[in-house]
Amino acid sequence: MQEDKSIIEVSHVSKYFGEKTVLDNVTLDVKKGEFVTILGPSGCGKTTLLRLIAGFQTASEGEIRISGKEITQTPPHKRPVNTVFQKYALFPHLNVYDNIAFGLKLKKTAKAVIDKKVKAALKMVGMTDYEYRDVDSLSGGQQQRVAIARAIVNEPEVLLLDEPLAALDLKMRKDMQMELKEMHKSLGITFVYVTHDQEEALTLSDTIVVMSEGKIQQIGIPTDIYNEPINSFVADFIGESNILNGTMIHDKLVRFCGTEFECVDEGFGENTSVDVVIRPEDLYIFPISDMAQLTGVVQTSIFKGVHYEMTVLCGTHEFLVQDYHHFEVGAEVGLLVKPFDIHIMKKERLANTF
Ligand code: ATP
Repeated sequence: MQEDKSIIEVSHVSKYFGEKTVLDNVTLDVKKGEFVTILGPSGCGKTTLLRLIAGFQTASEGEIRISGKEITQTPPHKRPVNTVFQKYALFPHLNVYDNIAFGLKLKKTAKAVIDKKVKAALKMVGMTDYEYRDVDSLSGGQQQRVAIARAIVNEPEVLLLDEPLAALDLKMRKDMQMELKEMHKSLGITFVYVTHDQEEALTLSDTIVVMSEGKIQQIGIPTDIYNEPINSFVADFIGESNILNGTMIHDKLVRFCGTEFECVDEGFGENTSVDVVIRPEDLYIFPISDMAQLTGVVQTSIFKGVHYEMTVLCGTHEFLVQDYHHFEVGAEVGLLVKPFDIHIMKKERLANTF
């Protein structure tokens, strides 16, 4: 259950490795009980941010607070957080039970308490019958469950998860996503999750933090990130998009591909050059008629299970279109888009909005 209270406060944090700026003035507020996903392409600094919160690395500038306490000088094992990595990092010579009990034994916890906690953690991850199995004999998904059990057995306030499902096959990943969501609900602790997988972020999160090149681009709930991307980077990264160069004729009229389109007023002045973003599923495709705002010829057409994915060449621009209706390659078609599905954005690929 998410509360209003902040549990992690990252304030103006930068991290440099030599000359390289890996995190650039990152500010982020995570609420208690929230499922927050840090999403971005490879190398954008996601893992570094997680490692700073975990205490495996220290910030070059800025401050991180957990539960109101400044924790820069606090070593990882004294922070109220635990991390689950992509590689399960289980001890191969210990069985499932001993892997989970390891941290508690180090803390000299009483045997009966260890037993109770390990069994509860195993139940939580659905591995009750596996206590005495060698970890080597488990599937990837089962090993990751054990890794999660090992992390939650210490009852951390925050669970940090660094691409925990990346090594699993698609089916197992989908199943584990649902299980993680359930686990988050029943544990009631805060999850900070790192992934480069947009769909995973949209499925799991209360809040998504989109990063690029060490900067936060947008923070928001999944539907806002998808429907109201703040710039063309976010629009392009979260799902496929058509991104076009446009010019504002006036507040509610934009010109692209040689045609004028009504749009929703986003406050851009006359003659401003803008990025125009249109989702493939927001383009209507039909046989050429007077309704068409754009006309073109189908270049490719692929059946995707639920819909068809087609590319349509209109003048010099190739549009990506998704529709339930199928048009053959070579068909002459019309395209139409509703004003509120035309997203107008400042012409600045990597806007530093925070
Ligand atoms: P991925 O999804 O590929 O894991 P990421 O978004 O998690 O990427 P980071 O692992 O945080 O990215 O790395 C960000 C950048 O910082 C990369 O260019 C990486 O090479 C660099 N980097 C990370 N750790 C170090 C280090 N210890 N020394 C030097 N450079 C580093």
